[in-house]
This record gives sequence, C-alpha cells and structure tokens, in this order.
Amino acid sequence: MNANNRIHAINAIAARLPDAPNGNLPPDRSMETYGEDVFGEKAIQTCLPKAVARKLLATVKGGQPLDPSIADDVAHAMKDWALSKGATHFTHWFQPLTGGTAEKHDAFLEPTGPAQAVQKFSGKNLIGGETDASSFPSGGLRSTFEARGYTSWDPTSPAFIKRHANGATLCIPTVFRSYTGEALDSKTPLLRSVQALTKATKRLLAHFGLEDEHMSVTLGAEQEYFLVDRGFYLQRPDLLQTGRTVYGAAPAKHQQLDDHYFGSIRPRILKFMNEVEDRLWKLGIPAKTRHNEVAPAQFELAPTFEDLNLAVDHNMLIMETLRQTAARNGLVCLLHEKPFEGVNGSGKHCNWSISYGGRNLLNPGSNPKENAIFLTVLSAVIRAIDLHADLLRATTAGAGNDHRLGANEAPPAIISIFLGDELSAVMHEIETGQAEKKSGRAKLKIGVDTLPPLPADTTDRNRTSPFAFTGNKFEFRAPGSSHNCAMNQMVLNTIVAESMDAISDKIEAMPGDFNTNLQKLLQRLIRAHKRVLFSGDGYSSDWPKEAAKRKLPNLADTPAAIEPLRDPANQSIFVKYGVLTKTELDSRYEIALEDYQRRIRIEGGVALEIARSMIRPVVADEFSKLATAISLAMKDGLKVGVTGLKALSLKLGAGLDDLHVKCERLDKSLVKGTPADQIAQMDELRRTVDALEYLVDDARWPLPKYREMLFIY
Ligand code: ADP
Ligand code: MG
Repeated sequence: MNANNRIHAINAIAARLPDAPNGNLPPDRSMETYGEDVFGEKAIQTCLPKAVARKLLATVKGGQPLDPSIADDVAHAMKDWALSKGATHFTHWFQPLTGGTAEKHDAFLEPTGPAQAVQKFSGKNLIGGETDASSFPSGGLRSTFEARGYTSWDPTSPAFIKRHANGATLCIPTVFRSYTGEALDSKTPLLRSVQALTKATKRLLAHFGLEDEHMSVTLGAEQEYFLVDRGFYLQRPDLLQTGRTVYGAAPAKHQQLDDHYFGSIRPRILKFMNEVEDRLWKLGIPAKTRHNEVAPAQFELAPTFEDLNLAVDHNMLIMETLRQTAARNGLVCLLHEKPFEGVNGSGKHCNWSISYGGRNLLNPGSNPKENAIFLTVLSAVIRAIDLHADLLRATTAGAGNDHRLGANEAPPAIISIFLGDELSAVMHEIETGQAEKKSGRAKLKIGVDTLPPLPADTTDRNRTSPFAFTGNKFEFRAPGSSHNCAMNQMVLNTIVAESMDAISDKIEAMPGDFNTNLQKLLQRLIRAHKRVLFSGDGYSSDWPKEAAKRKLPNLADTPAAIEPLRDPANQSIFVKYGVLTKTELDSRYEIALEDYQRRIRIEGGVALEIARSMIRPVVADEFSKLATAISLAMKDGLKVGVTGLKALSLKLGAGLDDLHVKCERLDKSLVKGTPADQIAQMDELRRTVDALEYLVDDARWPLPKYREMLFIY
C-alpha cells in the first residue's frame, strides 16, 4: 500500500519556482478602467439618450420608481454595451436561499429564419424573468405556492459583466419571488428593511429639525478566507465535500508565534491577490486592504464601505472572485468558517452605519445638536440589540459557524455591545446624571450647548466583542465567512427601525421642552438596556456566567439559535415593518434547520467513509506487518527490538479497535441519531484518527496533514 500522493503534491509545490518580482506587466489600474465592466452612471450617460439616462439615474440614485416606458431603450443600450464587452449571453443574477448566487444564461441570439438571426435583448427581458424555482430551497413556500419563481430587475444595483476564459455574460441583479410575491431570496427582505429603516430614521430625525434628506445604510464587509494548494485539497475528501477538515492532528507549530498576522505576504499569494484586485477593479468593487490573518494560510480582503444593497452584491462577487482566481493559481479558497480545528476560523465582519444627507449618523458630532443625534441613534441601536439579541444571533447560525463562535478566537454566541472606555463613561454619565454634578465640567445635557466633546474615535479596539462600536460604525463580528450578509443586515435594520420608532413614539408623547425630554428619555433607555453593554474580555470563561446573571441569551448551537425566528413576538416585528411575512420567516427557519441537519449528515458520511476506506486499511496493514515482525523476532529469539515493536503494535491495535467501535457508533447515529449525537460521534472518531496520525508511518498516511496544508504553499 502506498499513499504517496501527498508526497507528490509536496514535490510539485517544491518544483514551482516563484515568479521574479516585476516579472509580469504591472496591473492596469488606470482610472479609466475602474468599473469598466459595470453598466453604471458613466455607461448610462454615454450609452443612453439624455432624457432616458436622466430617468434611469433618478431610479438608480434617487430611489424613484422605474418608468416602464424606458425599459426597451435601456435594454437596447445595455445589450450593445455588453456586446462591445464580448458578452454573448445575459442572465438575471439573484441570491436564492441557498446562501449563494444563481444565474441562468440566455443567449442574445434570436433566430429570424433558416440560418438567419439577430441579437436581441428587450425591456421585457431586462425587467422580468421566469424560472423554475422548484429546485431552490423554499422552506415550505413551495408546497403552498406554485413552483415557478420570478426574477425582477433591481436597478439600484448596476448590471455588470462576468468574464470567463473565452467569453462573457451580462449579469442583471434581480430579486427573486414566488408567483404570489413571497420573497424566495435574501435581497427582497434586505431592500424592504432598508425602506423600513429609512422611514424610521426620517421620522426620528425630524424631531431634531432635520429635513428629509437622502439616506443610505452603509456596509463594509471584511472578508476572511484560507488558501490551500490545490494538490492537497484534491486529496482531502472532507475539504472537497464539506469545506472543512473533519480530521487532522494538530501540528507542533500552528499559530502560537503570531508570526503570520500582518506578516509579509508570500509572492504566490500576492500574485493571487493582485489578480483578484484586477478583476474587482473592473467591476468597480473598491478592494481596499489585503493582509495575512491570524491563522497560518489565512488572509483578509476588505473593501471600502458602500451603500448596503450594493455592498452585499459586491461581497457575493468578492467571494466568487476569490474562489475562481484561486483555481487559476493552483490554489483553493476556503470560505468555510472553520476549515481547520485548533487555529482561528474565518468571519465576515459587517461594518454598519447610516448616512443621512451625507453625514454619518454614528459619527460623534462636532456640535451639541449632532452629538444629541449621535447619542440618540446610538441608544436606539443599544435598545435594539438588547431587546433582539436573539434575532441577531439567529442570523449567524449555521453548521460551519457553530465551530467558530465561542471557540477561543471568535466572539461568543452571546450578543453584547462594546462601546469603548470613553463612550461607556459618557453613557454612564448620562444614565446617572453625574456630569451635572461634576465641578469643572460642563453640564451634560443633550441638545444644549454644554455637552462635552465626544471621543472622535475609540482607539481601544476590543476584538472579543461580537458587536463593537468602532469610532463611527458598528462592527458585527459574529457572521460567518461564508454567509450572505443580507440576512444579518436585514435583521439589524428592522430592529433598529423598531427601536427608533419606539423612541419617536415616546418623544411625541412627552409634552414640554424637547431637549429636557430627550435627556430624560436617553437616561431611561440606558438604564433599561445597559446590561447588553460589555467592554471586558468576551473570550474569558467568566463572561458566560456574568451574561447569565444579566439574563442575556446564550444560544450555543444552530438549532437553539434559530428558534427565535419562530417566536410570535419576534415575527410580529418583521410583519409590522413589512420586511418578512410570517410564512416567509417560517420558511427561513425551515431552510436553516434543514441545511444544518443535511450538512451534519454529510460531514458524518464523509468522516465515516474516510475512516473506513482510507485510514483503517493503512493502520490494519501496518499492524499486521508489525504482528508478523514480532512473531518472527520471537521465533528467532531476538533480544532487542521486540519491546519496541510490541509497544507500537499495542497502540496501533488499540487504535484499530477504537476505530472499529467508533465507526459503528457513527454509522448508527447517521441512521437515526440527532445532529447533536452525530457531532459527538464524529468528534469521538476524530480523536482516534488524529491519534493514529501521530503513530502511522508518515510516508503512508493518506491525508495531507495540517503542517502541510497550512504551511506549504
Ligand atoms: P478595522 O480596524 O476593523 O479593519 P477599518 O477602519 O479598516 O477598521 O474599517 C473596516 C471596514 O469598515 C471597511 O470596510 C470600512 O470601509 C468600513 N467602514 C468605515 N466607515 C464605515 C461606515 N460609515 N459605514 C460602514 N462601514 C464603514
Ligand atoms: Mg475590523
């Protein structure tokens, strides 16, 4: 038996010479090419008659409803533009509830007679599409409603060109609905939630005398990922089928030395990153930072924040670009939340804020009125998170993220808010009214000119908090690296909208001076919701105990975490704000649960198959060779070596027995066990396999090892 494919993969990487610096042409980063594959404002202005362009831009930028009479003109211009980019097909591009994106291509080709055709793309093609939705997860929506799904154009996210080796496709961002209008995607509720938040924000800010200004919810999604050499990846059925390694003994060195984080980036990786950025450049996706992350072979890409809807689409495109570019570079990009046990997992930090009339509402202001607005919005967020921590937690659920949350390198499953020392002090002063008594310090009153300047930036960053205020935005760190941000952002928008409305209700009901009332209101809000504020170490073992005392929910795994989606009180919020109907919410619950159960079963199946068909034969073979050697040595009366051989064969034999027993148990559990039991059996089996990895002849171990996958690339 020879399992030397591993060694071949190492040799192949060893034979690969790094490119010389500047060996290739430097990337094209001229401003004319930025966003050239996007049918955005620039293309709209050049390709469309002025009047049509004006109408379309009013929809794209001003949120005006689309004038259907311009659809044919827009489609025609878009087609010519796409053809000039080499596109042969168009597709409605949407985000079904699989968590990924979907596309179905149609050629522009339209036959007009035998061997005769034209290239056509009509307004009808642009605006709507009909597709068979029956193979997308619908969580019960399908059984109640008919199987057809309808895509409709979302003009607020521009069409773009996707390229492959010998062609290109025009992609039109769309929403995806059932015949009766139920949202079958993650974008529809996202857009609805932005509307809800916009309305609530405008209502709240009107109390401060602010005009009805252009508002935008902003998102900057930092994307973490791993890269492994494709040669190793192809030899790991677990990575191939589940995105994570179900086996792998800890290497002596992993991330203890902290020598990878922000380290100098290896040439092969930089070349990869540059190619990713080339692509994103043309798509107008503002890739801003790139760096090595904490775990070996882990990296991060962070774009500059954008309007939420666009930022979500861009994050989906970033993930796809990472995967495709990796493949071209002989690498594989792992977006799973925990591909490797024992080292950091990957998250997607969702930086969220609200911009109103061009001003960031989470930016502590430069005058008392701005400060008052800032503190009111901040309090609204605190109230929302305290009351609905369970809903926010639900959006981070998933089989993959379960391995990450609460492990000692990621935020725990308890949702709390970090404000930083200075801002916490300000909140404390408002709550206790202390500032008024402090001598030598201006009275802390909201909305009057004695408010002390607020800290412009909280420099102390607490990386252990799941929801941290970082100077001018909230950073939600619990979402998983593979997740679509739309779900968590949709919930965040909705609960903040509800909170703002609750504040507006109170303000409107209080007679008398606005500033005095606001001061009182904020004081009450902080008092009522301060339990969710926590600036300490979220990774410490004391925190769950403290959180329990504060009655903060601690929902440890996916089944527990998604339960709040079915809570009638929770559901009524989404219904009230027109974000999701009860049926739509129920369907999301069903899909999340089903997805979880299926993933665990697949992992269990893969674990079993590897243990039985790859690990056991190697161990059995090594054991039987040892047994033969021992009996021969004893027959010959050898004085040395027998002790060593016997000791090893005892360990291998015990491992072999263990393997047998634990495989049987997992097998049984996969037939009728609960997911929790299946996970427990997998963990048990893993312990045995990982112990064997240390014992078995290295040259014959069939699975690429952690020390190889994480360090050789
Ligand atoms: P970090 O120290 O967490 O890396 P950065 O300042 O680099 O923080 O920002 C991280 C992300 O937050 C970036 O994507 C950035 O564009 C985004 N961000 C900054 N300001 C805002 C904002 N007002 N709204 C949303 N995201 C923002
Ligand atoms: Mg960050």
